[in-house]
Amino acid sequence: MDPEEPAPLPVEAHVPINKTEQSDLTVDNTDNNGAGEEDNDQDNTVDEDIAQPINLLNSTVAPGTFRTLHWSPGLSMSSLNTPVPVLVAHGAHIGPVMCLTSAIHGDELNGIEIVRRVLHKIEPENLNGTVIGMPIVNLDGFRRASRYMSDRRDLNRYFPGNPNGSYASRVAQSLFHKVILNCDYLVDIHTGSFLRTNLTQLRGDLNNPGILEFSRHFGGMSVLHHSGGSGTLRRAASDSGIPAVTMETGGPHALDKKAVDDGSKGVQNMLHNLGMYQTVRLWLIPQPVFYHSTWVRSQQGGIMLSKVDLDQKVSKGQILGRVVDPITNTSSDIVSPLNGIVLGKAFDQVVSPGFATFHIGIITTEDQLTTPIPVQVDEPALQTPPEPKVEVPMSPSETADQLQDMGS
Ligand SMILES: [Zn+2]
Repeated sequence: MDPEEPAPLPVEAHVPINKTEQSDLTVDNTDNNGAGEEDNDQDNTVDEDIAQPINLLNSTVAPGTFRTLHWSPGLSMSSLNTPVPVLVAHGAHIGPVMCLTSAIHGDELNGIEIVRRVLHKIEPENLNGTVIGMPIVNLDGFRRASRYMSDRRDLNRYFPGNPNGSYASRVAQSLFHKVILNCDYLVDIHTGSFLRTNLTQLRGDLNNPGILEFSRHFGGMSVLHHSGGSGTLRRAASDSGIPAVTMETGGPHALDKKAVDDGSKGVQNMLHNLGMYQTVRLWLIPQPVFYHSTWVRSQQGGIMLSKVDLDQKVSKGQILGRVVDPITNTSSDIVSPLNGIVLGKAFDQVVSPGFATFHIGIITTEDQLTTPIPVQVDEPALQTPPEPKVEVPMSPSETADQLQDMGS
């Protein structure tokens, strides 16, 4: 790590994408067409949207090509260093730079498959702009099937990072400066954490007009308003002027086919709707938006047995699940406090009193959307695994650990 790299906070280096430049990608510049008549070159109007090579991670990628680059924070013994793959599809035509990151938590697999499907289906000669995919950001955690870094910290609590901070903070700083600040948009893909699963959904700060607009490009994928916890990649990118969303889809440790299908479809629709890359899988249903959600907690310890599924509509007073004591055969119901949709749920498992079991969202109506009233999302504090074993996500001073996304 170069100690002379710029200080981390605040990060202002990113120049937000110029909306007019972006729209010029698809609409030819008539002024230049007029000027071009002087040299009578018939092809000038065609050539104007031809992309230039891009420089990333000390490499140059030619227009209309696909390359695998590598990012390394350079913090390990150099002989043991394993760079993290960075897939780059650089389009033949100009357009925005879209970044897709996944497995910042090494036990979250669905995003890895989503990035693979999206990136390897792109034909760069037909792409407007650039798609940068990092399928396994936390390679170290991935190898151990662990959410955390080797220093037992949660990488997604340390962005934008600090070159003089903890190991996780230095890794975050390197990733943020070498890759993320090159992005015009960011989708950071996650799953539920600790034996929980999430309906495929976006989370973003819908009070930010750029993020609200970005979130509307993902077809019928649900969107939940949430400003994003301090230290998350999404929050740091947003604070640097990059429209960024988190995608939550499925649970950890396993591949969930529907979660992968829905996530891929949402990303492909987003690329289509931004004019970057066409898809035939258009997702045309209305997009549910949630400005308010809450987690329902178990009131007793025992074995939880769920009675509702993801995406199910539930009513106030409806029984969501039951917690039974296997010895006394006593039980208590987990009851929905409101009318809404099941956005996330714990798998059936042993729970303790206070365990967050079901995440219920209230759909915001069209009327409310015109004058959005942000409501604080009641997210449970990030919990340690039921049995902490050797991995406890604690850090002494850098983790404020307030209300964090359950899963991201
Ligand atoms: Zn995650």
